[in-house]
Amino acid sequence: MRKQIAAANWKMNLTVQQAGALTDELMNAGLQLGTDQEVILGVPFPYLSLVRGKLGDTPQFYVAAQNCHTQKSGAYTGEVSVDMLQSLEVSHVILGHSERREYFNESPKMLADKVDICLASGLKPVFCCGEPLAIRESGTENAYVEAQLRESLFHLGVEQLTGFIIAYEPIWAIGTGKTATNEQAQQMHAHIRQVMRNQYGEALANSISILYGGSVKAGNAAEIFAQPDVDGGLVGGASLVAVDFTAIIRGLKK
Ligand code: PEP
Repeated sequence: MRKQIAAANWKMNLTVQQAGALTDELMNAGLQLGTDQEVILGVPFPYLSLVRGKLGDTPQFYVAAQNCHTQKSGAYTGEVSVDMLQSLEVSHVILGHSERREYFNESPKMLADKVDICLASGLKPVFCCGEPLAIRESGTENAYVEAQLRESLFHLGVEQLTGFIIAYEPIWAIGTGKTATNEQAQQMHAHIRQVMRNQYGEALANSISILYGGSVKAGNAAEIFAQPDVDGGLVGGASLVAVDFTAIIRGLKK
């Protein structure tokens, strides 16, 4: 089975004390992950080391940064490189979140460069894509998302993309409480998998995990995750509450 993944995106939230307490609660929740299940905690830079330390060598639990720079080092005041992340034993990086595309002007080319430097350094991207409301209303969401994949991923080879993680996050569903319907999520996930199949073949398409993001809650996670092409979720608001995020993790396909 493809990896079924519950990924948290804490964004710019929590104090260090709250981040520590939330991690402790998750680690003490008695979660029993199946062999194909993973949990990834996408935490703010200052808390990466703390959270990584608390996870210790717990299998199938990983820490993600929410961004990285395109260069390995240098005069880029305020930025964080993949080498720094690796030195903290961070394994994943969330890339291309719609908030970074919109508020920090992250272009498809910049994202392609970030994907490249992550892969070259052995860090796993969680690559986000998804359409704004106007695109959904115009009925052109399939082409829009396909272009996002083509522009930032299609320069890569099959080997680099095997087991890759894509998060489909319709912008109109992020933080709005307006979740995509099960059918809308399944339709787009099947489309993304078909796009990857057309470009890279069946084996690659079946190896990638496609996560749904956008107002996933404890009460709706299991039914969305049950869709055949949905391999888990990228969760913002509900990942900040231990009891909610543990319920979401328990909703992953077994
Ligand atoms: C996100 O920002 O990645 C996200 C999915 O947020 P929320 O779950 O709060 O909609």
